[in-house]
Parts: sequence; C-alpha cells; structure tokens
Amino acid sequence: MHKKLFIPGPTEVAPEVLAKMATPMIGHRTKDASNLQREITEKLRKVMFTQNPILLSTSSGSGLMEGSIRSLTAKRAVVFSVGAFGNRWFKMAEANGIPADKHEAEPGHPTTPEIVDKYLSTGKYDVMTITHNETSTGVMNNLEEIAEVKRKYPDVLWLVDAVSSLAGAKIEVDKLGIDVCITSTQKCLALPPGMAICSITPRALEYGKNVKHRGMYLDLLELYKYIETKDHQYAFTPSLSHMFAMNYQLDRIIAEGMENRFKRHQEMAEYTRAWAKEHFALFPVEKYASVTLTTITNTKGISVANLNSELGKLGMQISNGYGDLKEKTFRIAHMGELTLNDLKEVTQAIEKILPNLK
Ligand SMILES: *Cc1c(COP(=O)(O)O)cnc(C)c1O
Repeated sequence: MHKKLFIPGPTEVAPEVLAKMATPMIGHRTKDASNLQREITEKLRKVMFTQNPILLSTSSGSGLMEGSIRSLTAKRAVVFSVGAFGNRWFKMAEANGIPADKHEAEPGHPTTPEIVDKYLSTGKYDVMTITHNETSTGVMNNLEEIAEVKRKYPDVLWLVDAVSSLAGAKIEVDKLGIDVCITSTQKCLALPPGMAICSITPRALEYGKNVKHRGMYLDLLELYKYIETKDHQYAFTPSLSHMFAMNYQLDRIIAEGMENRFKRHQEMAEYTRAWAKEHFALFPVEKYASVTLTTITNTKGISVANLNSELGKLGMQISNGYGDLKEKTFRIAHMGELTLNDLKEVTQAIEKILPNLK
C-alpha cells in the first residue's frame, strides 16, 4: 500500500507528473533540450519572482548548497544557522577549505536582523547564507526582516537555502535582493528527488571569477556557461526525466495560481499548528513557525516510532524529529500536493491512535 507522505521530502507526486518521468529520451545537445530547459527557466522565474538566470543541477539540493558556497566565496563566508541544514552548510564550507564562521541560533529561534547586522558590520565577509525554512526545528526565517539590514551591505552576496519552502511560501527573489536562491525538486515543487535548482544574479556570476578553485561539477559559473553559450543547455548530462516532469509540473503550479498555492499552504499550516497546540506543543517560537511543516514537541512522551507504524497501517507517514530531536519532537509536513483535507485526515488518525499507543 502506498503511504501518503506527510514528511518534508520526498513529498507526494501527482500520478500524471510521475508519468512524465517516463517520457522517451532526447539528446541533451539538441534544440529540443535547449527548448525544454528554456521553458523550465521561464516558468521557474514566475515561481521565484525573478528575472535572474536559473541553473539546474542533477543532484539533490545539497549539491547547489555546496556548489554555491564553494564557487562564490573569495574571502570569507558567514553561515547563519537555525538548525541541522544551516550546520550542514557550514560543514560544506569547512570540507572545501572555505574560510567561514557560523552563528547558530537557539533551537526553535530564528536568525534575527540584529545578529546579521552584527556580523556583516565587521566587514570580514563577502558571502552570507541564510536558511529560509529549517526543516528540523520548523522555524521559518523572515526574509523581509533580514533583507532590510542586508541592504546596508550591498557588496555581500546573499545565498538562501529555500529547499523546503520555495513554491510553498512566497519568496520574491528580486525584491529581496537574494543573489542565489536554492531549492530542490522533492519538497514543495512536488517532483521526485534528483534535481536542484537555483537563481543567480549576474553580479554573483561576475564575482565568482575571483574564486580560484570553484570545483567543476557544481561550479555555478560552469553551469551558467552552457546556458549562455549553448542556448540553455546543461554542462553535463542532465536528468532529462526530471526535466520533462518539471516542465509539466510547473504548468500545474502556475495554473493553480501562485497566490492560491501560498494560501493553501498557509491554511494547512494554521490548521496543523492549532491542532499541535491543542494536543501537544509547538517546538518553534510561534511567530516564526513554518508554513510548510510543523515541528511538534512530544509533550506526551509517546513513542513517535510506534505512532508512525500505526499510521503506516492506515496508509500515512509522518516524520520523527531530526537528529537530536528524534522522539523529542515529530514533524508533520504540509507541502506540495497536500490539501487541508489531507491534514484533517492525518491529525484525526493520530487522535484515534493515541489512546491505545504503546
Ligand atoms: C531537504 C533540505 C535540504 C537538503 O536537500 P537535499 O535535496 O536532500 O539535498 C537542505 N535544506 C533544507 C532546509 C532542507 O529541508
């Protein structure tokens, strides 16, 4: 039996989108391949509210996180972490020998504009990274707040991990002034895992030329070169299957209407948060609670593993807490294809299971 996924990726994929993965192959150096990538770019620009070039990578989202910090940091990066995925970005910098500092917020708390200001005012950094939506703690940073102080430091490049929020929450890339905005296919875009996407500003592409060792497979400048000189092709052999499915899924997303899509996510979040507060407690500070997943504190001390196996028998799956938060928290994702009715279904099932749970 298929389990309906209430986990923060991979998410449910519509059957007609899955079917597009089976499209017969084309050559990746053909006009058809250029047309496919160009169409995807135009549609992604609408979803990301940007005019910037769009890069694809046959990797999961982490690939472009590593590629961006490596290929754009010439001096020193500051990584603002609000949990596991921010910490991962810092590890990537260290593993590549990139000079970097990390500021980690208390669990459940956001990156504040004050702390961003404090670090950037030292003048030590040419790159800063922000996790928009921390999938471990369920914190969603306020990008508008951060953008406001970031404007005081126009020379610093701003990289954003929007892996678990883009296409579920509104991120106006150009208005905010984000240089590199990264996502991957298997979260709010509701596609199978296997490709990463980012927007990049022309000034970031120019700045990257100062970086001597950018690597190659995940070098953003290398990826861009093939868009510019080969009319929207990919530097290597892309996962064409994902691209066929993405091109189709982006039509579905745009047809829903971006505002409708954001509203649907907001409604699912509000419902799930209210439910969590009634039966357990919210893990993040409420003002910064994510609109794409809810991290719930296990105040009843239940076995989350057992809860999940009982849910499994009913054809549903949620997520245990991430890393150190395992069993102390659990997570219900509300992203991608899911609707308010799905959330009602899973929370009602949990309520039924709870009294008999071992
Ligand atoms: C899932 C996730 C990632 C990692 O993406 P992969 O596609 O699994 O590499 C990075 N950041 C956040 C916030 C995520 O939720």
